[in-house]
Amino acid sequence: MYDLIIIGGGAASQSAAMYAQGKQLNFLLISERLGGKVEPASAEGRDYMFGKMLIHYDAPDEDESDDRLIGSSVVHQFERQLKLLHDRVLEDRVSSLRQEGAIFEVETVNSGVKQARSVIVATGAQPRRLDLPGVADHLIANLGYNTTHHGDTLRGREIAVIGTTDEALLSTAEFAQSATKVYLVVPQLDAAERPELAALANIQNVELLQGYRVADVKGEPLGRKLVLERDGTRRSLSVDSIFVDLGYEPATALVQELVERTAAGYIRVDRRNATSVPGLFAAGDVTRSEGEQVLTAIGDGARAARSAHFHVLTSQSVQTVNPAP
Ligand SMILES: Cc1cc2nc3c(=O)[nH]c(=O)nc-3n(C[C@H](O)[C@H](O)[C@H](O)COP(=O)(O)OP(=O)(O)OC[C@H]3O[C@@H](n4cnc5c(N)ncnc54)[C@H](O)[C@@H]3O)c2cc1C
Repeated sequence: MYDLIIIGGGAASQSAAMYAQGKQLNFLLISERLGGKVEPASAEGRDYMFGKMLIHYDAPDEDESDDRLIGSSVVHQFERQLKLLHDRVLEDRVSSLRQEGAIFEVETVNSGVKQARSVIVATGAQPRRLDLPGVADHLIANLGYNTTHHGDTLRGREIAVIGTTDEALLSTAEFAQSATKVYLVVPQLDAAERPELAALANIQNVELLQGYRVADVKGEPLGRKLVLERDGTRRSLSVDSIFVDLGYEPATALVQELVERTAAGYIRVDRRNATSVPGLFAAGDVTRSEGEQVLTAIGDGARAARSAHFHVLTSQSVQTVNPAP
């Protein structure tokens, strides 16, 4: 029986594991692979979103001795430490999560059922993709699914932002400070009432394109031309980069029957990262629809582990902290 099982291997899970290790909790982290979104499946895919110009995830073996510390560097520091704790990381997929009284049963695909007094779910969220059959979006060098932190690299460029999430709108305002031109493509007509749109349309170098859907992405290199369609009429834009932010699909399949979720489907947590089920905590992208970042996920993970520790200590009259199994 574990004190804590952490489901996921991304920034939130790894920081939870580091916290749990510091508190000598008897914990197990279960994930298909360490790193989560910070560690794309293939080395070639490392810069797949925008190349080094816009998105850079460093590799675990990259020289991190320079003074530029980015989110992924921190995750790799965690990863190196976790890999030394062999009994604490199980590379597997969790297929189900059940509650039997005060105990959680975590079923894995290859390693049977593990039991714990508390669980942290940090399974992440996947960005909604453009529905463009035949276009392998990860191969489009100039198209990416995250608008975080790149405003300063866009000086003198023409770009398109697609979406009406808060992130998309905020980024449009931010990008307009350095880009020459920002096209904001708003596919939904019913978004017209949003007051932010009127404010953005007033910015001199922002052009609002409402009711358009993305019909194609073309160009040489691919991603330099955006083909839009509205009421059967097509319009072509030449741009340097395309940012898509259509929101995220949180990976909540394991807890759908267990916990309360928000209207958008995210796991609802309080400020301690506790869910509606005592002993069950959640952290990182699976809990929120905005502000997804490595550093916020790290904060979440540590907070969830702190709460799990408190739960383990207080939910039993006598609780011994176990050594590693
Ligand atoms: C295209 C893109 C670019 C981004 N760029 C930046 C950036 O430049 N800077 C920045 O700070 N942030 C960036 N982000 C956001 C950042 O990557 C995330 O906020 C962060 O990785 C979230 O960490 P997490 O631990 O919550 O989830 P994730 O990193 O998504 O990790 C989820 C983990 O859960 C595991 N998992 C899921 N289901 C199961 C299961 N059933 N069983 C076992 N394991 C499971 C996955 O394998 C994975 O390890 C970007 C995101 C995207 C999509």
